[in-house]
Amino acid sequence: MVTKVAENIVKSLEQIRQDIDAIAEHSDFNESVRLLAVSKKHPADAIRTAYDAGQREFAENYVQEGVDKIQQLKALDVTWHFIGPLQSNKTKLVAEHFDWVQSIEREKIARRLNEQRPDALPPLNVLLQVNIDNDPNKSGVQKKDVYALAEFVSQCSHLKLRGIMTILEADTDENQQLNSFAAMRSLYEKLQQMHPSVDTLSMGMSGDMRQAIHAGANMVRIGSAIFGQRE
Ligand SMILES: *Cc1c(COP(=O)(O)O)cnc(C)c1O
Repeated sequence: MVTKVAENIVKSLEQIRQDIDAIAEHSDFNESVRLLAVSKKHPADAIRTAYDAGQREFAENYVQEGVDKIQQLKALDVTWHFIGPLQSNKTKLVAEHFDWVQSIEREKIARRLNEQRPDALPPLNVLLQVNIDNDPNKSGVQKKDVYALAEFVSQCSHLKLRGIMTILEADTDENQQLNSFAAMRSLYEKLQQMHPSVDTLSMGMSGDMRQAIHAGANMVRIGSAIFGQRE
């Protein structure tokens, strides 16, 4: 791919890894933070460049776009996460091609993924998307309904409950972000006590990564800060 673009990806990736380590070192949580590279709207070549620089976990938001790239990059040892809105008519493709789904907010979608996950594949790793601020305009399961949905997923033999994720409003102030992330952390710890398979708290994007790690994220989802602006 164009050398300049590739150079920027490699440099940004290196910078983000350093930032994550520096922030994590000063947080109260003694956990390593996994970097998920969000590659939506960027070509397979961009993913290959990041892969060559050592990145192994990538996330896509749109089912068909993601499946196309997964097929183009079959030869690589990538762990693929689906993080976008998921309609019932698209669950089969996700169940057949992805390793993780982070955007589960309804029992119906979980049930379909469980039924459609091929026997030959390991269980699909699942994060529940939480609407932590109970914002009526946002997707995600409300806090009070998380436990029931977690219980349901934990009973599905082709799914593995791994934790929770959230997306915050882009323009909220830093204190509000810290409060919301802290509420996620506390919910995460409660869930972990009920379900020992829970080990992942996915929160923080290019704009709020610092606050998320401070509050105890152990996975951040970074797109534009690695790959540049999307069209
Ligand atoms: C696009 C997206 C990201 C990455 O956002 P950036 O601001 O580009 O880092 C993270 N999580 C989800 C769910 C997304 O849709």
